[in-house]
Amino acid sequence: MTTERLVPISIVGARGRMGKTLIREIVLSDSMILEAAVDREGGAGLGQDAGRLAGLHDIGVTVVDELRPRRNSVVVDFSLAPATDANIRRCVEAGVPLVLGTTGLQKSTRELLRSASREIAIVSAANFSVGVTLLTKIAGLVAGSLGESWDAELLEIHHSHKRDAPSGTALRIAKAVAKATGRELEGVMRTDRAGEHARPRERGEIGVAAVRGGDSIGEHTLMFLADGERLELTHRAFDRAIFARGALRAARWVASKAPGLYSMADVIGLGDLG
Ligand code: NAD
Repeated sequence: MTTERLVPISIVGARGRMGKTLIREIVLSDSMILEAAVDREGGAGLGQDAGRLAGLHDIGVTVVDELRPRRNSVVVDFSLAPATDANIRRCVEAGVPLVLGTTGLQKSTRELLRSASREIAIVSAANFSVGVTLLTKIAGLVAGSLGESWDAELLEIHHSHKRDAPSGTALRIAKAVAKATGRELEGVMRTDRAGEHARPRERGEIGVAAVRGGDSIGEHTLMFLADGERLELTHRAFDRAIFARGALRAARWVASKAPGLYSMADVIGLGDLG
């Protein structure tokens, strides 16, 4: 018999692709309950039953436009970057942990996240997939061992609706590569090599290219290129449920954690991602 408590969860961005997937996973789980489903003011679907919205049966939780988390619950936010600051502040006011999956965050939001994490426990990850978390860890290990004599280049592919580019995941992997070779990503990342930016590749730069189209849920290939050989590390997501399951694993984990800013690597026990 399990003695684990049921973790009540509020989903922000409930009507979105990820929001609906998260709701489905919670409804089908026996370790979590959906406390609230929140989406933006004025959007279609407000007042609708969240279970039905997610393609299941009625569950008696309607979609609302205000986040009011209760103590002992966890907020899981997969909405849009401009909404994030208000959601972080709500969690601090209510004293509840936050799992943040929204990407494309402004620098000021990342700073707010750091200061909020002195008061509440937060897991923030650009990618909640266990496979990508491992890829990021491996990227740092490989880059550290190969050094700058192998050229590191990253290619990411996502569906045509994605707003930010390069993906938060690509930036995170590139950051791990830069850090493993003793550099700051900002100084070495190249995202544009066309037109006036065209020139031969400089040693040590990390190219990051984004492809958009179709319904691709997310693919990341990290290449290490040398004269005569190439090493490629690829992760492909086939189902957005992997992100939802990872985020909900993080939500159950963070429910009992002290204030701090945690990563998915902490959740799965991998330690620092670099
Ligand atoms: P989406 O556009 O389908 O859904 C976003 C939802 O947020 C919409 O329903 C929108 O109405 C809602 N929203 C907008 N403003 C809001 C507000 N102020 N309050 C509450 N809700 C609001 O997008 P998606 O594909 O579901 O992705 C959502 C976010 O999650 C994006 O930033 C995406 O990049 C990110 N994402 C992260 C991971 C990860 O593992 N970290 C995985 C997939 C997607």
